[in-house]
Amino acid sequence: PRVEDKLFYNRYLVDAGRPHVKIRAHVEPSPELLALIKICPARCYELNAKGQVEVAPDGCMECGTCRVIAEPTGDIEWGYPRGGYGVLFKFG
Ligand code: SF4
Repeated sequence: PRVEDKLFYNRYLVDAGRPHVKIRAHVEPSPELLALIKICPARCYELNAKGQVEVAPDGCMECGTCRVIAEPTGDIEWGYPRGGYGVLFKFG
């Protein structure tokens, strides 16, 4: 099966009001932020009507890709969700 079908089986518990990924406010997105739109496997990043990048970390798999790319540049702040929240991987 496709990886998307497999991922469907993972559960995600949203910690309402406490997103674990935050984007620094910007007018023009940096190349790193733009890259996240295509790179995030959970499609958490998207362009809004103003051409800025927004994040909706619901469904984030905590793969860390965006962190590697955009945290060093200061474009995002990334922290693991609080205990009990976030992705719950199902094996088997
Ligand atoms: Fe997407 Fe991975 Fe970043 Fe989560 S950690 S928002 S899945 S790139």
